[in-house]
Amino acid sequence: CTTHRVPRLLAIDESELIHRLLKARLRCDHLEIHNAMTMEEGLEMAHRLLPEVILLEIKMPERDGFQLLSQLKSNSETSGIPVIVISGSCSTDEKIRCFDLGAMDFVTKPFDVSELRARVRSAVCLRQMFLMLAQRAQIDGQTGLWNRSHFDLRLRQEIAEASRHRTPLSLIMCDLDCFKSINDSYGHPYGDHVLEVFADMLNSQRASDIACRFGGEEFMIILPQTTLDESMSLADRLRVQLRDHLWSEHPKLKVTASFGLSHLATCSERSAEQMIAMADEALYRAKENGRDHVCCSGLHGEDVEKRATA
Ligand code: GH3
Ligand code: MG
Ligand code: MG
Repeated sequence: CTTHRVPRLLAIDESELIHRLLKARLRCDHLEIHNAMTMEEGLEMAHRLLPEVILLEIKMPERDGFQLLSQLKSNSETSGIPVIVISGSCSTDEKIRCFDLGAMDFVTKPFDVSELRARVRSAVCLRQMFLMLAQRAQIDGQTGLWNRSHFDLRLRQEIAEASRHRTPLSLIMCDLDCFKSINDSYGHPYGDHVLEVFADMLNSQRASDIACRFGGEEFMIILPQTTLDESMSLADRLRVQLRDHLWSEHPKLKVTASFGLSHLATCSERSAEQMIAMADEALYRAKENGRDHVCCSGLHGEDVEKRATA
């Protein structure tokens, strides 16, 4: 999680002296300090490092700092990074322009270092809080898995990544079987408990798997760098793990789930919509086959059984 790393500060200033001063005086503040001597370098580093705070000298010789500030604030990847403008000679109008462009703070050179440190601390704290809330907004409160909105975004990102690097990508869609009758027989709170246990199983496979709650008792696992055969073995392992789980409060209870798989290589459109539709169609077949089954889009009957146990 980005909020747990050492916060990064990016200082963009053509003065070597300022960089040395910042490094010496901010050293004890648990910050990773990065220096950019030009605007171009600053822009590139802001995108690559996504620092928690940027210190920007607005009046640099080779390019207008206002332009850089505006570029940082108009790009969705960097727009949330707090920018503290530092400058020696700014008129009130120029300061107002900085704030209008989205700067968070303004410090006049020569600056008081302890005051700058306090302003940096406050900016970093705000950024970390924002990142934490943004991450929380993507998590399903009941199961702790990624939620639907994260899934929608992430699947698109992973499809783009897999297409760029020509790596495999699989998707597992799963749905608890006859879950309504579990609620009816054991009560809704116990149904919630079953959902949470299943979610833990989905989440405790490989670290690279992205387990999400799609809605209700339906889940998705995005599997980057995973072939069709590997994803089928994983789905089958999960199927057996759930089926064999002993529910200590209700020893007679058997809970099962059905699984539908799709693979990017067999999606003609290479779109998220098509990958989801193909996994959904395979899940439908798994239900039709009597539930507690794994089906894969493009594969039928015995093929699936053979490949899953291979
Ligand atoms: P199928 O095997 O065809 O999937 O049958 P099903 O009963 O699982 O499917 P159906 O769509 O008929 O019912 C889904 C049930 O899941 C109904 C709904 O009340 C329950 N459900 C959805 N979300 C939750 C939840 O957060 N907690 C609990 N306890 N139940 C939930
Ligand atoms: Mg169901
Ligand atoms: Mg369902």
